[in-house]
Amino acid sequence: VSGAAVADHPLATVSAQRIDALLDGFAALSAPGPGVTRLCHTPLERQAHDVFAATMRELGLHVRSDAAGNTVAERPGTRVGAPAIGTGSHLDSVPHGGRFDGVAGVVAAMEVARLLVDGDVPHVHPLRFVAFAAEEGARFGRAMNGSGIACGALGPADLDAVRDADGITMAEAMRSVGLDPAAVAAARWDPTDWAGFLELHIEQGSVLERAGVGVGLVDAISGSTRMALHLTGRASHTGGTPMHLRADAMAAAAEIVLQVEGVACDDRHRGTRATVGRLTVEPGSITTIAGAVDLSVDVRDVDADRQRATAAEIVGRASAIARRRGIGLRAEMLADAAPVVLPTWVRGVVADTAERLDVGYRVLPSGASHDSQMVGRIVPTGMIFVPSRDGISHAPQEWTATADIAAGTDLLAAALLELDRRLAG
Ligand SMILES: [Zn+2]
Repeated sequence: VSGAAVADHPLATVSAQRIDALLDGFAALSAPGPGVTRLCHTPLERQAHDVFAATMRELGLHVRSDAAGNTVAERPGTRVGAPAIGTGSHLDSVPHGGRFDGVAGVVAAMEVARLLVDGDVPHVHPLRFVAFAAEEGARFGRAMNGSGIACGALGPADLDAVRDADGITMAEAMRSVGLDPAAVAAARWDPTDWAGFLELHIEQGSVLERAGVGVGLVDAISGSTRMALHLTGRASHTGGTPMHLRADAMAAAAEIVLQVEGVACDDRHRGTRATVGRLTVEPGSITTIAGAVDLSVDVRDVDADRQRATAAEIVGRASAIARRRGIGLRAEMLADAAPVVLPTWVRGVVADTAERLDVGYRVLPSGASHDSQMVGRIVPTGMIFVPSRDGISHAPQEWTATADIAAGTDLLAAALLELDRRLAG
């Protein structure tokens, strides 16, 4: 099969109905409550992977799962021994999140696979459709765990190092759903076995919607530094303790929260985002001065140096506040991922394809972390964004129109085949 014949092979049209049905099916795999709750390394996440695996097997694809919980379906290429081109995203969610984060990219991958199979479309390289495990950092404080293992950023020792709110380590959680944390080294991808990767994802911001553009091509993905700040004051009676004799961990936390916001709002930090999203207060009583507060701090930036400097500056300012108030402070690093600049040539292939299909696009950075950040360490990677209504994500209101996912999937399919053609040489 010549490269030209591969690219010219007509693809059937993406089915909005099938996309909706797949999205509905995954959204139904949720713990009770508003939105979708399908935390990593839970039976619900495994069920979602089972649905993905079963659907891909029905299409005749070869499906394998690894010790990290990732599921990979492969359609062989026409050239024996050629490295693979991949696409996919993740199937886990945050608590009370939406039905599109991660899932949109997996559903797009499933639909691309169906188009290729239904149309009997040949490709030179094997195409791999990937559902990553444990992308969200909500449960353990560390994101991109499945892709991190596959791409060599995490090993077995890292799985004992993080715990969820119930004190369960990631390794324990993995064992409880039948995964083997001791064997994750075998889940590592061989870079020479891969030629390229494209991830479709919802934007989780409002740039595309405001611009009235249906597709975004990502040039860089923000890094993130995540810390816990443990404040220790003195719990005592709110009535009996005079104001000047207090060591109020809550009041110190309040000052620190505003400093975290403030540091990211000054002129030196245009584009930096810093957030305290969680406070854990002990004893958490209306009649007791807070004796201890744990704060989460999350710093995001597309500039690696500034990201680390901002995190250090936050710890410095928090220390000064704690000292002044007679409060103990211990800073703990939970996770640190560098920003990733995605290769221009991969984006160029997607952009050329969009122009050929007459699809308008806009180039933009990603503020959120994505599996592509990990995949990009070892495989040339690109990302396609589709619009998020009102820019909302990680909430039940998260929404992307089926037509937008369908248009993104059309582009994804064509771009994967274009990558296949160009890489075939
Ligand atoms: Zn995601």
